[in-house]
Amino acid sequence: MTARVALRGDLLDFTAEPAWGDIDSAAVRFRPGQWLLIEAGRIVAVQADAPDASWTRHDHVGRLILPGFVDTHVHSPQLDVIASYGTELLDWLNNYTFPAEKRYADPQQAETGAALFLDALLARGTTSAVVFPTVHKVSADRLFAAAQQRDMRLIAGKVLMDRHAPDGLRDDVEQAERDCRDLIARWHGTDRLAYAVTVRFAPTSTPEQLAMAGRLCQADPSLYMQTHVAENRDEVRWVRDLFPEARSYLDVYARAGLLHRRSVLAHGIWLDADDRAALHESGAQIAHSPSSNLFLGSGLFDWRAAEAANAAVSLASDVGGGTDLSMLATMRDAYKVQAMAGQRLTAWKALHAATRGSALALGLGDEIGSFEPGRLADVCVWDWASEPVAARRMELARGLHEKVFAWMILGDRTNLVSTRVAGVERYRRPENGVP
Ligand SMILES: [Zn+2]
Repeated sequence: MTARVALRGDLLDFTAEPAWGDIDSAAVRFRPGQWLLIEAGRIVAVQADAPDASWTRHDHVGRLILPGFVDTHVHSPQLDVIASYGTELLDWLNNYTFPAEKRYADPQQAETGAALFLDALLARGTTSAVVFPTVHKVSADRLFAAAQQRDMRLIAGKVLMDRHAPDGLRDDVEQAERDCRDLIARWHGTDRLAYAVTVRFAPTSTPEQLAMAGRLCQADPSLYMQTHVAENRDEVRWVRDLFPEARSYLDVYARAGLLHRRSVLAHGIWLDADDRAALHESGAQIAHSPSSNLFLGSGLFDWRAAEAANAAVSLASDVGGGTDLSMLATMRDAYKVQAMAGQRLTAWKALHAATRGSALALGLGDEIGSFEPGRLADVCVWDWASEPVAARRMELARGLHEKVFAWMILGDRTNLVSTRVAGVERYRRPENGVP
């Protein structure tokens, strides 16, 4: 018998991209008190009437139901260094991140770390992610295995770095290529998993290694590519010194054949108009990571300039530079970054970027990100408020945008009631209400 599950609540998703500043956007689809019908892991219908008893019904009336969040840039081993004091990017890598990543050479650590990380995502409503493990092949292998056990949509790859990194964290071109090819053969296209050629960032790969990464991408256009670009000014200067032949930091990747429609580039703060045009022409996306940018003091991303150039922008936690795996925290930091830049980010724009927008930018719009029939049922149920101050604010909210915006700013993981991945519940808030 095929599992049939029906969830009732206030369904919210998007049918198009909301325009900047439009709080009455017609792209928002809000269907309060309706039933979402899930069969064999896929969304099959939305209806006002309760389905018959052949469906397992969960009545969440008065709660918010959203597509699962997509986090397009996050580092699984960096849970060990989240909330580390006092440094900018390059010192932060050397003082905190690299020592933590060395532990992932150990298969046992790779396995337990992957489980902790993915369960933490699910407990915050994130059902899909683009993830950096470490340079160690085993770290990617165990991460994919853990995602497969949970049936999650995960994009990841062994990190490439063959210079400017300490002992125990460097590979070389030949071994790295063999490891990539093995991992691609095992995991790319297996269940809901996809491989990303994963360049840490330009300074930690030799030109030979970047060329190898580019060849992998050219040989199979279904592969993703993930890296960092133009996060911090000292980093940008370093890249200029290392690659004097390149027009810009982004151009280092373009010249190596690493800029394409499946490229996910974190940060992109210090880009110029030519870079933004190159993003648009290639179809590559910026994974905007506001929490990390604020925490490390990297800079303020100009979202509107990227959008004006028709460059895709998705949202990312970038833990451990970011301080919270929650996409709610990421959205409110995105609002604050734009406010510092003199812009106002609507709740619609933020929520779209964390769901349908990311899905489309990753080429996964037919699988995740909305409640269209046929999509896999990656679905989260949220309380509008989890404590009295937020409840009072919800009572006073005038109109839908005001209510959703207040939810976005005041909400956290304690608001999350249930997370389903392909229809199966993978997280449920404990009965005592304390996650
Ligand atoms: Zn990062």
